[in-house]
Amino acid sequence: MFSKDDLQQLAEYQGHPAVLSLTLNVDPTKRTRDEYRLTLRHLLRSVGGRANGDAARIEAFFDHEYDWSGRGLAIFSNQHEDFWKVYSLAVPIGDSIFVGPKPHITPLANLWDAYGRFVAAIVDRQGARFIFVQLGEIVDGEGVLGEEVRRSKSGVNAISTSRRRDADAPTERKESEKIKRNVKDSAAALAAFCEKHSPRYVVLGGNAEVLNELRGDLPQPWADRVIGAFAADIGEPDLAVRDRALKVIDEYEAKREAELADAAITAAAKNSHGAARLGDVLRAAHAGQVQTLLIAEGFQAPGYRCGQCGYLSAQSMTRCPYCSGTFDQIPDAVEAVISKVVEQGGRVEMVRGHMGLTEAGIAALLRY
Ligand SMILES: [Zn+2]
Repeated sequence: MFSKDDLQQLAEYQGHPAVLSLTLNVDPTKRTRDEYRLTLRHLLRSVGGRANGDAARIEAFFDHEYDWSGRGLAIFSNQHEDFWKVYSLAVPIGDSIFVGPKPHITPLANLWDAYGRFVAAIVDRQGARFIFVQLGEIVDGEGVLGEEVRRSKSGVNAISTSRRRDADAPTERKESEKIKRNVKDSAAALAAFCEKHSPRYVVLGGNAEVLNELRGDLPQPWADRVIGAFAADIGEPDLAVRDRALKVIDEYEAKREAELADAAITAAAKNSHGAARLGDVLRAAHAGQVQTLLIAEGFQAPGYRCGQCGYLSAQSMTRCPYCSGTFDQIPDAVEAVISKVVEQGGRVEMVRGHMGLTEAGIAALLRY
């Protein structure tokens, strides 16, 4: 399984002369294997001669070794140094290919941030079940069971609301209090489970009324980490719970990314803490201003780099405006600006399906 250590090792690797980084969405529920192979071929062709023996090695892997398990795939290859890493991922990843001196770890780092650690909890009137999921794989599970309650169609106040005239009857009130106690115990157990695993996100499943009650009982910081909920039955299998929680996270991440892209493009249009399109983004990166770099998935562009100070430009210039050095053409300016932003401590996000960003190709939120 892909871990934070793998990410660290990749970040430290320096390829001579270069390393090819490939990520491929292979979600079997979305497209066929033939279609994924076609995408792969297209990606490998796009880096042309720069892939050296790596493209052949990857083709051979798909022909003879790959078992098509998982929903995403990441490969790092530098055949000159016998460097070969394959990670099968239980969560989907966008398609990307980069060739450069360093492994392109942005898609994996983003994946780790989003799906690295989450807890999903299914809660009902009597008890709860929790799973801890690390990069799509279930690594721990736990359950709690409280006092027995009478069967009913819905939540905490179901008994008193469905039989209004008996609402004050002592047995009904007792039942309702019992449920509240159970949910409170479930919230405490969930908090303990979260303490143990420190999830970035918490996703809840169950009846809306019970979940509202639980949210009220859940202590911080875990209450703030609840990013969404889905209707579910306490008996739902772990794998189904995981998949439904992943869907909630997918939607949350897509929304978060779209908001960042909106903010960057609006800021760029107002000329206030934002930049859009390659030329402006490269200038901002050179000035060390980029806080969050947003790249439309699949966007690639050649560029020019000053041989002396490293200034990146979208257009060819005879002299560097900063140091008067001369420019070399580079095949991938996006890869170069990502490295620069990461070195400066900025964040990089690959964004899929955002109209404004797809049109601009690249945008950034600036520090000042
Ligand atoms: Zn220069």
